[in-house]
Amino acid sequence: MGKATGFMDYPRIDPDQRPAQERIMDWNEIKTHQDLAVVSTQAARCMNCGVPFCHSGVILNGMTSGCPLHNLIPEWNDLVYQGQWEEAYQRLVRTNPFPEFTARVCPAPCEGACTAGYKWDPVTIKNIEFEIIEKAFAEGWVKTSKAAPTGYRVAVVGSGPAGLSAAYYLNAVGHDVTVYERDDRPGGLMMYGIPNMKLDKIIIDRRIGYMRESGIKFILSTDIGKDLPAQELVAKYDAWFSAPEHERPGS
Ligand SMILES: Cc1cc2nc3c(=O)[nH]c(=O)nc-3n(C[C@H](O)[C@H](O)[C@H](O)COP(=O)(O)OP(=O)(O)OC[C@H]3O[C@@H](n4cnc5c(N)ncnc54)[C@H](O)[C@@H]3O)c2cc1C
Ligand code: SF4
Repeated sequence: MGKATGFMDYPRIDPDQRPAQERIMDWNEIKTHQDLAVVSTQAARCMNCGVPFCHSGVILNGMTSGCPLHNLIPEWNDLVYQGQWEEAYQRLVRTNPFPEFTARVCPAPCEGACTAGYKWDPVTIKNIEFEIIEKAFAEGWVKTSKAAPTGYRVAVVGSGPAGLSAAYYLNAVGHDVTVYERDDRPGGLMMYGIPNMKLDKIIIDRRIGYMRESGIKFILSTDIGKDLPAQELVAKYDAWFSAPEHERPGS
């Protein structure tokens, strides 16, 4: 575990946001990076409690408590505290294909469930996740690997986070994956709903670039059921996965 008394020794320190006077001049992300030494100290606040509610995502009375992805939070907190950032990244992506998205837009039910928060402030889990994945991109640890081809072809309809996650995992085990999207850019409501100040679109494009490099094909501006009959997908592919969850805002 991290530092046994870290949660008592160190107060919670949140990362700064860009000053309002600067933010009103552009649409860029308002979040800033925290000094990595501070992030390590913040990770030391994780007490690695016997029952880590933070990573035990459950629904209570219709509300989410803990991480729905079951991220191995105490484990990567400890690794960050020890300065083992690459290992922390490897642990993070065991459960989360796109930490750069969740670390920006997730409402962080993990922090609401953090045991330290019962008496003190919860651990800055979301920000630690953010710094792990951004360091991983900066250091070149994010790879475009793929397993040996299975020979199966799979179509994914919709390129929101659900469709992208399905494509990522299907591709990772060696299937030949094609994503169909009716909009002109992939990303779903991350691209056309969530504002830039929270999730810059270059972050989505960066991930799509890695996905293309790893062999996933994207066919855009193609509405399945309108531009291309669903029967054609059934005939052309061994399987298909549909993830067209939401309508566009205002539609
Ligand atoms: C303004 C706004 C702000 C938000 N802010 C947050 C936030 O801060 N944090 C958060 O966690 N969530 C936020 N959300 C919600 C979040 O964006 C959605 O929960 C998430 O995108 C749903 O993912 P999805 O993959 O299920 O569906 P979507 O993102 O809706 O993706 C579905 C995709 O399928 C495509 N599609 C649909 N039908 C077809 C078809 N027939 N053929 C081809 N393609 C098709 C659509 O064009 C779309 O790209 C926000 C949403 C909005 C609108
Ligand atoms: S911020 Fe990250 S760790 Fe916390 S609930 Fe969201 S995805 Fe899980």
